[in-house]
Amino acid sequence: MAKVLCVLYDDPIDGYPKSYARDDLPKLEHYPGGQTLPTPKGIDFTPGELLGSVSGELGLRKYLEANGHTLVVTSDKDGPNSVFEKELVDADIVISQPFWPAYLTAERFAKAKNLKMAVTAGIGSDHVDLQSAIDRNVTVTEVTYCNSISVAEHVVMMILSLVRNYLPSHEWAKSGGWNIADCVQHAYDLEKMEVGTVAAGRIGLAVLRRLAPFDVNLHYTDRHRLPESVEKELNLTWHATREEMYPVCDVVTLNCPLHPETEHMINDETLKLFKRGAYLVNTARGKLCDRDAVARALESGQLAGYAGDVWFPQPAPKDHPWRTMPHNGMTPHISGTTLTAQARYAAGTREILECFFEGRPIRDEYLIVQGGALAGTGAHSYSKGNATGGSEEAERFKKAG
Ligand code: NDP
Repeated sequence: MAKVLCVLYDDPIDGYPKSYARDDLPKLEHYPGGQTLPTPKGIDFTPGELLGSVSGELGLRKYLEANGHTLVVTSDKDGPNSVFEKELVDADIVISQPFWPAYLTAERFAKAKNLKMAVTAGIGSDHVDLQSAIDRNVTVTEVTYCNSISVAEHVVMMILSLVRNYLPSHEWAKSGGWNIADCVQHAYDLEKMEVGTVAAGRIGLAVLRRLAPFDVNLHYTDRHRLPESVEKELNLTWHATREEMYPVCDVVTLNCPLHPETEHMINDETLKLFKRGAYLVNTARGKLCDRDAVARALESGQLAGYAGDVWFPQPAPKDHPWRTMPHNGMTPHISGTTLTAQARYAAGTREILECFFEGRPIRDEYLIVQGGALAGTGAHSYSKGNATGGSEEAERFKKAG
């Protein structure tokens, strides 16, 4: 029987909700392009309830305990004295969400002698040292597509918020002001701007599709080119490299995974290539950017705005410069964990566990590492190596109280 160690974010500060704003969720038949939704044999939660926090337990307890397994759930994940690090020593499976990542570094892999699988309840397994997983033959899985559209919607919201100066204007309204000139001295229309995405995978392409009706000119760069029919339909301009795309764009959005090829790809040198006054939206991973270079570019005016929900490490230290840099529209990491998305990735996690325990193959699209190599989506979208370096800094958030 297995020990499953699940790291989830804390419950709301007022306690686990007793009621919700809405009574149901829209029904999806399948994802865009036809990929089927998660297909577990059963679920023990009500879609629309808070599943990603500690009391929600991703709806897994009944299923796991009925099958004789042990489930340990904690939010205490950082530092050598954390519950996570203590419980890890005999865990068979670790589950965590990118919003509150349980960093699985080489040191932690070395302690986790029984570990067979790391499940990302969400998308993006960069909090796992993939090289160690490869070397130690630990399977890494994620719930591909579960929240790609959730994030694409967020990207569009953040682009519009920055360009139109929404958040500072809202602050004026809240504080009793009517300071129109203060609001509009930094506000523009998106219409006819040049908007480019780094990566046109599930999220990147969904962003392009959602932005096309705004009558903007769309650009993308990706390791694999989209079908010609899609390029024509959306009137896309493809760029062979990121560096070729940056200078033509008014807005750049990052939608690629974090792996050694993409770590710190936005830095002092590459920011010089951007048009002065460009906007940068990053809901992919904080470590795609050199954090201090971004803050400098906002202070100098090289960037007119930066928004996103991803930081490094997570939770971000209280003195992280992105909390206070000018013209930022940052939120904690939330875009992929709406109640809508949680229902999908909780079901996807259950599907992965059912397959694992019943000895059935896990869907190829959910695989990142298997059998000592990148596999499935991992082989397509990631590169070998480790992107967890520096994650121990996450403990500073806890220590700051
Ligand atoms: P996909 O796997 O569908 O797309 C990733 C795309 O990135 C692929 O098209 C891949 O290209 C491309 N890519 C990889 N490396 C490079 C590179 N060096 N240069 C250009 N393109 C590259 O994943 P999703 O779109 O669903 O998700 C993307 C990322 O978004 C996730 O990995 C995760 O980090 C982040 N995310 C954030 C969430 C949030 O809540 N903020 C939630 C979900 C995801 P190709 O395959 O053609 O080689």
